[in-house]
Amino acid sequence: MADTSYYDILGVDKNASAEEIKKAYKKVAIKYHPDRNPGDKEAEEKFKEAAEAYDVLRDPDKRARYDQFGKAGAQGAGGFGGGFGGGFTDLNDIFSAFGDIFGGHFGGGGFGFGGGSSRGGQQRYRGGDLRVKVRLNLKEISEGATKKFKIKKQVTCPECGGGGSEKGHNPETCPDCQGRGYTIRQAQSIFGVMQQQVACPRCGGEGKIVTHRCPHCHGEGTVSGEEVVEVQIPAGVQEGMIFTVQGKGNAAKHNGIPGDIQVFIEEEPNNDFIRDENDLIYNLLLTVSQATLGDTVEIPTLDGHARVTIKPGTQPGTRMRLRGKGLPQVSSSGYSYGRGDIVINISVYIPENLSNSEKKAFTEMKESPNLKPSTSIKDKIFKSFRSYFQ
Ligand SMILES: [Zn+2]
Ligand SMILES: [Zn+2]
Repeated sequence: MADTSYYDILGVDKNASAEEIKKAYKKVAIKYHPDRNPGDKEAEEKFKEAAEAYDVLRDPDKRARYDQFGKAGAQGAGGFGGGFGGGFTDLNDIFSAFGDIFGGHFGGGGFGFGGGSSRGGQQRYRGGDLRVKVRLNLKEISEGATKKFKIKKQVTCPECGGGGSEKGHNPETCPDCQGRGYTIRQAQSIFGVMQQQVACPRCGGEGKIVTHRCPHCHGEGTVSGEEVVEVQIPAGVQEGMIFTVQGKGNAAKHNGIPGDIQVFIEEEPNNDFIRDENDLIYNLLLTVSQATLGDTVEIPTLDGHARVTIKPGTQPGTRMRLRGKGLPQVSSSGYSYGRGDIVINISVYIPENLSNSEKKAFTEMKESPNLKPSTSIKDKIFKSFRSYFQ
């Protein structure tokens, strides 16, 4: 799915309105809905794809970022280590995220469909997601970084191995559903009357009941613990991006599907540069003499310094570029490529306190014709000034 655009997945135009996108999503979601396509993995994938696309395109912010940066910009979709995948791995996430579309019929608490057909209708618990913030400076953003977190979370109980039973005991088949994990219910929904599988209330959908609870975890199969998680952050990320490390969140009850860790990117402000997407803006403050007579100056870069030649008669507001000295672009697959520029913005320091002799020198120059801009110079400066607003 990596290469199909979100617009193509929903079959809408790039300029589609919010209403059109919602309609298109509803159509695709109904077509590929798992209740209409039981056991059809391809339909399930298409259903998830559509949900991911809709999740991004329905949000004006995410949509704008997607238009500009692709999938990485939209939601940082996908996990480090496990490859950048999609936003949704779990159908219940889709049902709970878009309850308005599905009329709330499909919300399911805490369960994944991860069991697959081999497990019949039985469901597995899903561990909760965790969030971490990672604060990066510009140099780390430029080069990419590996960060380690010690995360407090639910881990698999070491006493019972996650099963929840006391030593010497095993869970028993649920008498209410005979181990199926579900009961059948008729329900009215936007898709018409449908038979719905409802998780068995007795066993919670697992089909099994823990009769002798492990004393260490009280039968849950998880206990509080911690884990050191390493996250690879590709070069070029931006403040506000979110990455998902799949399967590293809270362990799930009874060896279910572990949750994810969502990594929120934060950018440390930098004393030299202002970031503008992949460009870095540097404000170079010249003296009146430097701007008038010309000079060679050194400016900082992310990997040292660069020498810059200032031509005589350089106007404030002039912009110069050090090509390829900015930040790389990051793709949705976590691959960093290209680099922006350092943009040097020239400004000129006008002295505020002058000695008597300096004051005298300026006064002498005051009426000098070369110090006054001609009409054509005024035009030229105005044109360049105007170009920043167009
Ligand atoms: Zn236990
Ligand atoms: Zn049951």
